[in-house]
Amino acid sequence: MVNFPKPLLLDTPFEKWEWDDVPKYRREQVRHWIFEKGFLQWDKMSNIPKNLKSDLAKKVDLAPMEPVKVQGSTDTTQKILWKLRDNQFIESVLIRATEGTKGVRASRLTLCVSTQVGCALGCKFCASGLDGLKRNLTTGEIVGQVLMARNEAGRRIDNLVFMGMGEPLANLPALLPALDTILSPQGLGIGARHITLSTSGLVPKILELANFPAQIRLAISLHGGDDETRSKIMPINKRYPMTELLGACEKFIGQRKKMITLEYILIKGVNDDLKQAELLAEHAQRLNAKVNLIPYNRVDGLDWERPEKEQINAFYKTVEREKAPRVTLRMEKGHDIDAACGQLRLKEIKSQ
Ligand code: SF4
Repeated sequence: MVNFPKPLLLDTPFEKWEWDDVPKYRREQVRHWIFEKGFLQWDKMSNIPKNLKSDLAKKVDLAPMEPVKVQGSTDTTQKILWKLRDNQFIESVLIRATEGTKGVRASRLTLCVSTQVGCALGCKFCASGLDGLKRNLTTGEIVGQVLMARNEAGRRIDNLVFMGMGEPLANLPALLPALDTILSPQGLGIGARHITLSTSGLVPKILELANFPAQIRLAISLHGGDDETRSKIMPINKRYPMTELLGACEKFIGQRKKMITLEYILIKGVNDDLKQAELLAEHAQRLNAKVNLIPYNRVDGLDWERPEKEQINAFYKTVEREKAPRVTLRMEKGHDIDAACGQLRLKEIKSQ
């Protein structure tokens, strides 16, 4: 059991902090410093009385992590390696939409958020799962990650994708309250349709999430058109095979009336044959889902490779020809910055 020096930022939603007899306008001033101005040091809040600041500082730690490495460029993609209070590492990625990206404003900023330290699900192509799950992030660490990444970026974050380290749906007890603060106009004020949760296919949790009131988006990491292919790279498929997964997606869509996305990482010789493209299009049609194709980013220590350009294009064209409702090909940014999930953390752990 880890003993943190203080309670962490916003493990309790801001509105429910112990305000005792603090006047409403003072609470609003504190809220403004944190969420509007992004000040995460109590002593910098110049209009707050000293005794109130020191009282709140005892209760709430505003900076549950520190950036130890930032790689990449402020024009495109930056990866941040954070050190948590118990000396564990997690990663976040800031992704800027580049000029000319179809239908996307040039200035859009997306943050890829981690929800766990490591991951228990052991997808064979992923660096995050290589040394297993260390622990879940707390609500405060999830909110803190967004606030601190916003400060690193020096601007508003437009979109959040929970596709960083860890399986978000395996940490719903911490994630859902974090989403309350992220969504709240009194908190980070990021709209539900700008938030995507990605899952490797935890069927019962998909069904649980269907009841979450806000209209957040769901992405399924499919990475295979049939059980045989998917099971080769995603052990979770043995627990929740495709029939169950697709059934849960149907129920989710039926309840939410929202389009979901099928993410598909293309790995050479593993899941990139055109039969898989046909099956993928079939699933997308059945679910009326978008398809997002992502050519694989190499991970040190793993043998998987990105398919040749011609194969990537042929796969894309087949999914399109087979009438998937919408298909995009996302060329992963940041080959040079260990952009695949978990790589930077793994390097840091190995170097210690
Ligand atoms: S891809 Fe996601 S679910 Fe799979 S091991 Fe990596 S972090 Fe975990």
